[in-house]
Amino acid sequence: MFKTKVTNAGCVYYSDIIPELPHCFTMRESAVEINDNFYKYCEYFKVKEKEFIHPTQTHSSNIRFAEIGEQNYPETDAIILTNTEQAVYLRFADCTPVIVYDRQANIAAVVHAGWRGTVAGILPKTIEKMLESSKSDIENVFVAIGPAIGACCYSVGDEVIQGVDSSVRNNEGLYCERGGKTFLDLKKTNARQAVESGVPIENIDICPFCTCCNNDLFYSYRKENGTDLRHNAIIKLR
Ligand SMILES: [Zn+2]
Repeated sequence: MFKTKVTNAGCVYYSDIIPELPHCFTMRESAVEINDNFYKYCEYFKVKEKEFIHPTQTHSSNIRFAEIGEQNYPETDAIILTNTEQAVYLRFADCTPVIVYDRQANIAAVVHAGWRGTVAGILPKTIEKMLESSKSDIENVFVAIGPAIGACCYSVGDEVIQGVDSSVRNNEGLYCERGGKTFLDLKKTNARQAVESGVPIENIDICPFCTCCNNDLFYSYRKENGTDLRHNAIIKLR
């Protein structure tokens, strides 16, 4: 279940399914790039400024491991963290933020899954890459899917529908039809991909909020006509 907590940078959400992993999903006012929140999160997560890293997201399905001392992650939309020196944040406005935690190996990842990344299977690919390196059992993998545009607001065209259909074995319940339009549940699509990869359904937590309906709480690319501002998902290993 998603719950709120107060940090020195303001109110954030977290998932109680991964209590061992220091993490959060920020809101508008608590976003990393607002005010001096970057420095406040360095303090909160106890990392040096140069080790609070983020990739240059390009809606790709490229996945990288975080490397101590490395700050440059071009064209990267998922980062796997295996050390306790760094913290990682990614940026979102409607796209789906996903935090993956491998409890057995104590490694984690943040994934940026918009429709392009979702269609390309960036979440299952990240899980696969994590397990390749950790040799953990998939029963120990937990997935927290953060605030993203919901099926209430996310009307999509044929290109997206075809892509989503080819990215899952079972597309049941991923769409709804209203007023001649098709609406996609991007969060549920990512959850379905995780389940089809073997993640137990009880290990998946989905944030109920739609970023477009709850634009007072989160940034929405659609609602705000292409805003540059972003909320975040942040992870750090203990
Ligand atoms: Zn909505």
